[in-house]
Amino acid sequence: MAFVCLRCGACCRWEGAVKLIGDEPDKIAEFLNMSVEEFIGLHTTITPDRQHLSLLSKPDGSCEYLGDGGCLINPVKPLQCREFPEKWNFPGWQNECAAGKLTVKDNA
Ligand code: SF4
Ligand code: SF4
Repeated sequence: MAFVCLRCGACCRWEGAVKLIGDEPDKIAEFLNMSVEEFIGLHTTITPDRQHLSLLSKPDGSCEYLGDGGCLINPVKPLQCREFPEKWNFPGWQNECAAGKLTVKDNA
């Protein structure tokens, strides 16, 4: 069965960098109606391995773009966000993800 995200937002609250690749900074900046220089300067940082830009986090650790109704940049959210959990995940992810919990029940 195809994975269907329930938009619980848990994956937007986990620790770790939300990496930006390719032209993602340009696309997000355009979506936010700001210059890419402004977006990079005000809303990104460098990943620990210094290989990529990543989105900033709020003080509680959640992504800066997690809003009350979900992702505020959903149409242009990074590939890393779009690929979870089908292209990448981690042991036990089903226990953290609302849709993943359903797959555990389905397989029980
Ligand atoms: S960009 Fe959107 S989907 Fe990705 S972590 Fe931030 S709020 Fe979540
Ligand atoms: S944790 Fe799972 S259900 Fe929740 S927003 Fe992320 S992918 Fe969707």
